[in-house]
Amino acid sequence: MKKQLELLFRLQAIDSNIKRAETLQQQFEEEVNRLQTELDSEAQKSAAVQQEVDAQVKKHREHEAAMKVLEDQKRKVQEKMMAIKTNKEYTAAQHEIASIEQVIGKKEEDIILAMDAVEKTKELIAGAETALKEAQQRFDAKKHQAETELRDYLADIEKQKQEREALQQEIKPDMLGTYQQIFKARKGVAVVLVDKEHCFGCSMKIPPQIYNEVVQGEILHTCPHCRRILYVDRSAAAGEQQSV
Ligand SMILES: [Zn+2]
Repeated sequence: MKKQLELLFRLQAIDSNIKRAETLQQQFEEEVNRLQTELDSEAQKSAAVQQEVDAQVKKHREHEAAMKVLEDQKRKVQEKMMAIKTNKEYTAAQHEIASIEQVIGKKEEDIILAMDAVEKTKELIAGAETALKEAQQRFDAKKHQAETELRDYLADIEKQKQEREALQQEIKPDMLGTYQQIFKARKGVAVVLVDKEHCFGCSMKIPPQIYNEVVQGEILHTCPHCRRILYVDRSAAAGEQQSV
């Protein structure tokens, strides 16, 4: 019985490791997905800022082009003035120039505002690019970790699964059946350590009589409170006796 209990304890250790690995793998996948979403969102934001800059640059160029047209108009009127003979025509030309200059003045303000807007959106670009780069780094780092650390860990778990197969062959069918039943009913924990008359599965006290029999290891005992198979780690128990 001692040997059988020890096999069940080893089986539980492997099953716990497998469960931990599955949880860890799931957490990794979720984290990678979350970072991917974050990366996509930063890429979208960065593209939107770039579009905004492009639009501002375009507006600035349009104002500059309009300014050129106005300056051409003004020059043409000035040239025309050279050939003017009458005062009336001269006054009319002067009015024309004055009104063009008024529009030019307004256009100059537009150009300054447009340049400011370009500068401001360019500042946003730097921030957006940094955020994008950082999101990319976080994503790459997690992906790298998944492809190295997690892969090694899962490879080790695969080995443990093979061990588990061999282990199962050695366990008596009725013992294995009991284990599986409790495993299902007790969230994947069928065998628990008991130490100093306390069950590690539920932290409750075990009656001394049962505890002593669990220490002897000749009978399969379950915890009277959580119904899990009780096990005493003999190497630890031996160490304890020595220290007394
Ligand atoms: Zn218990």
